[in-house]
Amino acid sequence: MNIAVIGAGIGGMAAAYDLLRAGHRVVIYEASDYVGGLASGFKEPHWDWSVEKYYHHWFATDRHMLGLIDELGWRDDVIFPRPYTVVFHKGRFYPFDSIPRALLFPGLGWGLNKLRFGLVGLYLRLTNDWRTLEKFTAHEWMLKWAGKRVYETMWEPLLVGKFGQHYKKVSMAWMWARLKVRTTRLGTFTGGFQAFSDRLAEHLRGLGAQICLSTSVKRIQPAAEGGLTLHVKAAVERFDQCLVTTAPGLLARLAPDLPKEYLEGLLALKSMGAVVMVLSLRHRLSEEGYYWYNIPKAAGFPFLALVEHTNFVSPDHFGGEHLVYCGDYLDPEHEYFQLTEGELLERFLPALPRFNTNFRPEWVTKTWLHRTKYAQPIPLVNHSRNIPAIRTPIAGLYFASMSQVYPWDRGTNFAVEIGRNAAKMMG
Ligand SMILES: Cc1cc2nc3c(=O)[nH]c(=O)nc-3n(C[C@H](O)[C@H](O)[C@H](O)COP(=O)(O)OP(=O)(O)OC[C@H]3O[C@@H](n4cnc5c(N)ncnc54)[C@H](O)[C@@H]3O)c2cc1C
Repeated sequence: MNIAVIGAGIGGMAAAYDLLRAGHRVVIYEASDYVGGLASGFKEPHWDWSVEKYYHHWFATDRHMLGLIDELGWRDDVIFPRPYTVVFHKGRFYPFDSIPRALLFPGLGWGLNKLRFGLVGLYLRLTNDWRTLEKFTAHEWMLKWAGKRVYETMWEPLLVGKFGQHYKKVSMAWMWARLKVRTTRLGTFTGGFQAFSDRLAEHLRGLGAQICLSTSVKRIQPAAEGGLTLHVKAAVERFDQCLVTTAPGLLARLAPDLPKEYLEGLLALKSMGAVVMVLSLRHRLSEEGYYWYNIPKAAGFPFLALVEHTNFVSPDHFGGEHLVYCGDYLDPEHEYFQLTEGELLERFLPALPRFNTNFRPEWVTKTWLHRTKYAQPIPLVNHSRNIPAIRTPIAGLYFASMSQVYPWDRGTNFAVEIGRNAAKMMG
């Protein structure tokens, strides 16, 4: 069959890999001039490695991604350093990525709250019954079972940080999924995620794929003679099948012939955007060598997460520069989407001495700003009933996006899974 894949992100490329191996002709259309989508990176000429535009790592449990890498024979290029994650409590940061460290964390006191934190965490790691949990909001469930102090110290900041004003509506299944499969060991690819995407794209080309970069698909319509027509640049191309991997709102615009009910389902899905600035510093910011700082919004920081990438992979890969992300998940209408890079930097700089009192603005040698309005789907209560089917009601048209990844929190691992599931249904 003649198959089009819209989007050369990880999901689209994973689907194309299976479709090509099943003997189909595959054309991938990608609006950007690079592959990798949200997991893409950038590189200065004197760097050996690329850095992701938005902080990225793999978990040791990412079996779909690691499985694909095994199939490709590239496992030797996956590294799992042991970076440190810290949480904020009363003006200080505390490591919080192992059981002994959690036990030592002073934010929960030393008695009942710590026990409740541990027992609830254990229950969530052991249970598989997310279908019952999705009937509750994480807010109500955690308040009830973990208690007010544990919830307000540990879980509310996470929910507020990720979902802003929507945090009280998020399903408990999302929280369960995060606790269930995340590991403290974090992995990446030699050369960065972009190196992985570029290598995968090259492999797909070797299998016969045509990857059309800087080529935005404008319209998908059922063809009178069967199959689908795609409006691409000035041309109209015919395919037997098409897989779309974009945001759901974009699919609704690309394929307005979808039945009303399916279109309404796409448009009802909610998501958060992300604004992430990468700063290159002359010196290391975290003297303790911390990688990931979880920051409660209530503590007055102008961003949600500070991530010192070069405490995860060596600054030697970046010409000795120290790379720090300041990032936030925000509603697409948030002012951070309008401010200039300079204006945002002015907001962010005053917060950096809170991570290292020696920090001076002169440490910053360069910044890069990345913004996306589609970064994090918001799974509401009973979300499983609202997920659009991969096989759309238009014959031959398939849809596999971050918004259909559930109950797991979206990630490249699940982009591989859903892409490959779609490929199985096609072909
Ligand atoms: C801030 C942030 C942090 C993250 N952290 C992690 C992490 O630590 N680990 C992890 O595994 N994952 C992480 N993720 C999630 C991960 O990036 C995504 O789950 C994954 O990349 C999604 O892949 P995808 O192929 O489904 O979609 P995308 O990557 O969004 O790919 C869709 C592609 O479609 C293209 N496209 C759109 N419209 C058109 C059109 N009309 N025509 C042609 N092409 C089009 C886009 O340009 C894009 O390349 C993070 C994401 C963000 C935003």
